[in-house]
Amino acid sequence: MLKNKNIWKRLFIGAFLCGTLTGILFFYINILDKKLNDEIISALEETSEQSVVILNKEVEGEFTLLTEVAYRLSVRGDFDPKEAVEELQRISQRNSVKRMGIIMPDGQAYTTDNKVLDLRDREFFQDSVQGKRGISGRLQDKDNGEDIVVFSMPIYEGENVCAVVFMTFRLEEIQNLFSVSVFDGEGYTYVIEENGDIVLDTTVSKGLSNYENIYSALKDASVDNREVAHKMKKDLERGESGYIRFHNKIDKYMYYSPLQAKSWYVLNVVPADVMDSTRDFIMFLTYALCTALAGIFAIFILYIIKTEQRKKKELSNILYVDNVTGGYSYARFCAEAQNCLKSTTGNAAYIVMDVDQFKIVNELFGYEKGDTTLCYIWKMWKKHSRENEIYARRIADKFVALWYFNSREELDKRVESFLDALQKSFSDTISEYILKVSLGIYIVKDKNEDTQHMLNYATMAHSSIKGQEDIQYAFYDDDFRAKLLQEKLLRDQMKLALQNEEFTVYYQPRYSVLTKKLVGAEALVRWKKADGSTVMPGSFIPLAEKNGFISHLDKYIFAEVCKKQKEWMNKGKQAVPVSVNLSRRHLYDDSFMEEYRKMVEDTAVPAKYMQLELTESAMFENQEALCQIIDKLHAMGFNILMDDFGTGYSSLMMLKSIPIDVLKLDKSFVDDFDDPKGRKIITSVIELAQALNIEVTAEGVETKEQYEFLRELGCNTIQGFYFAKPMPDEEFEKLLEEPT
Ligand code: C2E
Ligand code: MG
Ligand code: MG
Repeated sequence: MLKNKNIWKRLFIGAFLCGTLTGILFFYINILDKKLNDEIISALEETSEQSVVILNKEVEGEFTLLTEVAYRLSVRGDFDPKEAVEELQRISQRNSVKRMGIIMPDGQAYTTDNKVLDLRDREFFQDSVQGKRGISGRLQDKDNGEDIVVFSMPIYEGENVCAVVFMTFRLEEIQNLFSVSVFDGEGYTYVIEENGDIVLDTTVSKGLSNYENIYSALKDASVDNREVAHKMKKDLERGESGYIRFHNKIDKYMYYSPLQAKSWYVLNVVPADVMDSTRDFIMFLTYALCTALAGIFAIFILYIIKTEQRKKKELSNILYVDNVTGGYSYARFCAEAQNCLKSTTGNAAYIVMDVDQFKIVNELFGYEKGDTTLCYIWKMWKKHSRENEIYARRIADKFVALWYFNSREELDKRVESFLDALQKSFSDTISEYILKVSLGIYIVKDKNEDTQHMLNYATMAHSSIKGQEDIQYAFYDDDFRAKLLQEKLLRDQMKLALQNEEFTVYYQPRYSVLTKKLVGAEALVRWKKADGSTVMPGSFIPLAEKNGFISHLDKYIFAEVCKKQKEWMNKGKQAVPVSVNLSRRHLYDDSFMEEYRKMVEDTAVPAKYMQLELTESAMFENQEALCQIIDKLHAMGFNILMDDFGTGYSSLMMLKSIPIDVLKLDKSFVDDFDDPKGRKIITSVIELAQALNIEVTAEGVETKEQYEFLRELGCNTIQGFYFAKPMPDEEFEKLLEEPT
């Protein structure tokens, strides 16, 4: 959810930046477009001004000629139209006019082509008769109906107009005369009157032909022109110049500016593409560049987002993916567990698991094999977990899982089948070494409880069975809680019990295999509580080891045995070595050796009668340091026994490097004697010990068969119920009295 939110946030920022850039580009394009449009208009304006100048000049030219003629005719005094026409005939031959003529004030016109026409109704005549110069629009010749344009000028007789002189041009001629090349011939020109009537159409074929009025022509060309025609009309009414863009088959520009003559306007029309081509090209280039720029920018932003996402993914992979198994990391497991738990309605259980002594795999077979094994375990979790159930490697060889179940029986079955399959997979994959795993399970009571707390409960259940061969999983339940309470009680009572001398020493005799005679004993602690009950070491030694109380207890037992040995010696009893168990916690404590040495010294018991038992697992830890400690103990005169040989993971080769005196074969070894393979192992261990000159003691010998088997192998001594159980000192003392 958080991930999605981040993506949207980034995309939004990316889109915003792209949008801003597009906005800026759009703004720029708009300005550029406007600027280019202005350029077009000023080009049109310039061209139009040139046309105006040319046309004004042409018109002025004609009027100048007429003014001169009128002047010449007026000075004659008595005005005779026939004479005047004769004069005009000479002039008209020089100029390319259709005709010239004189109009008398009554409108009767005498022309150079010998026509007599009634021109009373002509506007130009009416203007000139009133003393103004006249110019017609496009007219039809009264003689032959040709399109013509007429210029006229009053002839004065004194102050009064006595006649009007006029000059008639064929429309084509005037058109040629007025024709102005616009935009290299691409454009054309009209002269119109204010009301839109076309006076001159210089390029009939190209323009709005066959129309007499420009507005009607515009309106008919396209409905879209209505608005622009309206604008033009308004401008013309105000006598202003301006431009419109209209449509007549193609888009065109029309620029209009007033002429001097009458209220005429010159119109310059240019196809829009002629004007627009440069602008369009620039705009096209600009659009292309901007699109490319926006595209590159968008790609860049996407690239940044992608890179960012990839980095995040890599980071979350580091955080959320376990580097060994490729599955969930512990962090991911914890993050998901709470949600998974809330989304299920059934029962759920947290499971923690680890492989006993997994570091041995790494040390013996290498880290690669270790990793492969962890992957196997993870795959087994995968195979045995259902949909929605989650599992992960927590750290090293520790795994966690969240499983669902309907009934406790069902969960038990699943756990057992998982453990069986795992065991099988171990023997298939790591044939060199059989691994054992153990689980702690916590059945979730309150789904809202903190995940870590629940995992801790499972871990507590798991710790309670650590190192116990026969138990592979334990639940944190009411029984477990009661046990924890009991343990806590024991832990709390231990210290007081030591002060109250509730701990006593039992002695388990050791016998020579050959002679069946007493050759020694092991001191084993018993807790005799005030209420008369006896607590066996199995119940409190592990607790005492955990809380460190074992140091006090071991020293106490050692001191007690020393005292007892001294007492027996004083009583003249047979002296046999008594071995005392030494917790591994002492080994690396510098002061312990000194204290033990002092105890034997104080009681004057020869150190050879005080032996020390070290467990095999203690031996494995730091061989070099251990050898030094053993050397020192030897120097003090103590003999060292390796206890529980066969339960740990020591290799036989270890016997070569650690200078022990006695090897105590563990009961589990001895129990295996029924099995041919077991016998073989016992045989080789004893043979090796003999070769290394190490004495062998078999623990837990209970039957005659076991005894005989061990005797055949040449085992030196035996400690087991077959001969005697651990016993109080008084009882053991009696054994010492027996004749040797
Ligand atoms: P351990 O040192 O291996 O002692 C031998 C254990 O095997 C004793 O159990 C003994 O009663 C038992 N045993 C001997 N022969 C037989 C047999 O034939 N059959 C059976 N079933 N059991 C036999 P115990 O006295 O309950 O002591 C258990 C363990 O507690 C000891 O194993 C030792 O590791 C530890 N322990 C006992 N006393 C002390 C002590 O004073 N200090 C320390 N650090 N550990 C002690
Ligand atoms: Mg022992
Ligand atoms: Mg033992």
